[in-house]
This record gives sequence, structure tokens and C-alpha cells, in this order.
Amino acid sequence: MSIQIPRGTQDILPGTVELWQYVEAQARDICRRYNYKEVRTPIFEHTELFKRSVGDTTDIVQKEMYSFKDRGDRDLTLRPEGTAAVVRSYVENKMFGDAAQPTKLYYIGPMFRYERPQSGRYRQFVQFGIEAIGSSDPAVDAEVIALAVDYYRSLGLSKIKVVLNSLGDPASRKAHREALIQHFEPRIEEFCGDCQNRLQKNPLRILDCKKDRNHELMKTAPSITEYLNEESQRYYDKVQELLDMMDIPFEKDSNLVRGLDYYQHTVFEIMSEAEGFGAITTLSGGGRYNGLVQDIGGPEMPGIGFAMSIERLLLALQAEGVTLPVETGLDCYVVALGDRAKDYAAKLVHELRLAGASAEKDYLDRKIKAQFKAADRVNARYVAVLGDDELDRGVINVKDMATGEQTEVSLSEAAAYITKK
Ligand code: ATP
Ligand code: MG
Repeated sequence: MSIQIPRGTQDILPGTVELWQYVEAQARDICRRYNYKEVRTPIFEHTELFKRSVGDTTDIVQKEMYSFKDRGDRDLTLRPEGTAAVVRSYVENKMFGDAAQPTKLYYIGPMFRYERPQSGRYRQFVQFGIEAIGSSDPAVDAEVIALAVDYYRSLGLSKIKVVLNSLGDPASRKAHREALIQHFEPRIEEFCGDCQNRLQKNPLRILDCKKDRNHELMKTAPSITEYLNEESQRYYDKVQELLDMMDIPFEKDSNLVRGLDYYQHTVFEIMSEAEGFGAITTLSGGGRYNGLVQDIGGPEMPGIGFAMSIERLLLALQAEGVTLPVETGLDCYVVALGDRAKDYAAKLVHELRLAGASAEKDYLDRKIKAQFKAADRVNARYVAVLGDDELDRGVINVKDMATGEQTEVSLSEAAAYITKK
């Protein structure tokens, strides 16, 4: 029996991979414009890093991590998300001492979570994310949201919605936390085991539970917005004011809490409202994490970031019927008939490639008609036809496939002629 791909993973094949390359290139370009620099961290980290940063009570840490021991008996985990590793790297490399502040970083790479696979949910998926560390200016919050929205819009998505909330500062969160415990405690037996565990450890997580989503106490739960102190409210107002100034529409949702423990103040998600996008509508999520750098052993430095998966982005593009301008054609296919012409074709494709054009020839000893068919199949813009008699005369016939126009060009100039076109 042949071996199959692991559940929840996918092969990205030619024909589709061009879409990935395109959106990844656009992500890099938007980061260049917003002045975020790429950081590449390892695919695996010490398990402790995620326990400490993502949080012991989260689904990610409790159920979704690919953890293993290596041969040296170390506890390691395939990274389930990007922020923890970026912050670890920020602390380890003392980026807080860099001249340019705040530190603005981005990453694109695979993440791993043991989840139940479905459309838009995989066990290996690629996240594009950014982190801005070292400033608690609400303008950074607005910038991070703006970058994500700008990215989606520039790719052609129009049916997107920004959902915004504030979790407040630690004092506001503490007041809200106590209110939540009072609210849920009397009837906590009606909730799932996870929620019962979360009640004392992290009651905010209960609001994010997927199993008990429809319990009546969920709808009447005290909202964080009622517990924001003055400073937190002012911060939240400022973020909204800046988004308004940037023409970035948003909706407020006081039930948005997000899956990670480390958030404070701003949290947001961007959803697709396209029909046919499926059950999962979240394209990206992010928020401010003012205590995280310290938790990982660094100085007290505020940060904010978001992450999105390329998988869900491509699904949204498909749902909205957006065609990306990817180039898949070949510049020139060299058709050869006769033994000497075939050898010369090898030299000519080499010359074309050296000159910067993409070029291909026949390697299967095909008849001329089949060679033309092959040229057609790879969508060649030019087809150069060479027979032994042309070779003797030192010329080659170049056909422009768009116009049908044919030109006889001297062999020594063929590569330059095609490349120039
Ligand atoms: P969800 O509620 O959908 O599980 P999450 O809160 O676990 O999302 P985050 O950890 O915030 O998601 O990750 C940020 C983004 O990464 C998501 O908005 C989504 O685009 C993407 N993402 C998360 N998990 C997966 C997955 N298993 N497969 C594909 N993309 C994912
Ligand atoms: Mg999840």
C-alpha cells in the first residue's frame, strides 16, 4: 500500500503554488512599506515557551500542540503560533537595545496544531504575522490593523469586516474577572469540564468556549466594556479615532476575547463576509500583549501584533471570485527538427535562460506537431522553430503566439531578440 499524506496537511502543487508565491510576495511588499523587517525563527521551540506565553489554560496548549522529546530528552514543540517565538528571539537578541524603535518584525511560515481538520482548518498551516514591540502608542494599534486591512484590500478582497474590542489594562481585567467568576460560579456544573477548570484560572476563556457557546449565561455575562477604567477607555477611544481617520471601518464586539492569554487593551479579528466562505469566517486575529515580553524574561516592553493564515486568505479570495495576476506562461519554447537542430536547441535555451528569459525545449524526441502542442500547453509567448536547413543558413524562425506574426532572426541574435521582446 502506498503511503499517504498526514491528515490535516496538504501538498501545494504547481498551478496553485503560484498563488501562494504571489500573496507571500505581496505580504513582504506591504511589510516593506510599513517598515516591518522579516525574522525567521526555528520551527520548534522549548515546550515551556508556549506554556508560559500562550498560556496553560488555552486550547492550543491543552489540546493542540505537537510536543515531543528529542534524543537528548528535551521537551520540544512544533510551533503552534508565531508571537511566542518572535518575542523569545526579541529578548534573546536584545532587540530592545536596537537603535530603531519600536522593533517592527514580520514572519511567514508553517505552524502546527493538532485540530480536527475541516475547510480553513489544518494541522499544518502557514501564518503571516507581524509584531511591533516597544511602544504603547495607540497609533501602533491602528497601524497594525491598517496593515492587515490594506493587505486584504490590495489583494482584491472587499467583503471584509474588522471587529474590535478592548480587554483593558490589568486593573480593568481583574475587576471584570471577578465579575465573571460571580456570574458563572453558581451554575458552573452546567458547563463543560474545560470551562469548570477555567473558572478560577482564567474565566475570560469561558466566553471563548466553542462547546458552551449557546448557554444562556453566555449572553448575559458581564461585558469587559463595563469594567474598563478611565485610562483603558481613553486608550480604546484613541484607537477608534485613529481608525476613523484612516477610513478603516470597524465594528465593536465586547464578546471578542481571542484564544490567547496574553492580550491587553486592543484585540481584533478580521472576518470575511463573502458568501460561500464556509463555517469559519475569521481571516486573522491579533491584539496587544503588554506583559508578554516580561513573562519571557525580557524588560517591560509593550507589544502588539496579528496573525493570519494564507490558507484562509486564499479561501476568501476564492469565495469572492478574485483572480490574482499570477504569471504562469513561458517566454519561449524552442521547437527543433533534425539531429543537429536538436543539439542547437539545447544551446539556444541555455542562452535564453542566461539572458533572463524562461525557455524550454523538447526532451522526449517528439514529432514537430507534438512539440507545438507542448509549447501550447506551457503557454509559450514565443515559439522559435529550428530545422537543419535554417541552421545551415544561420537563422531561426520566431513566432509571436499572440499575434501570429513570424520573423526570421539570425541565430546569433535570437536570444537577444526574444529577451528584448
Ligand atoms: P480559530 O478560532 O479559528 O481556531 P484561533 O483563535 O485559534 O482561530 P489564532 O491563534 O488567533 O486563531 O491564529 C490567527 C489566525 O491563524 C486565524 O485567524 C486563522 O487565520 C489562522 N489559523 C488558526 N488556526 C488555523 C488552522 N488550524 N488552519 C488554518 N489557519 C488557522
Ligand atoms: Mg484555534
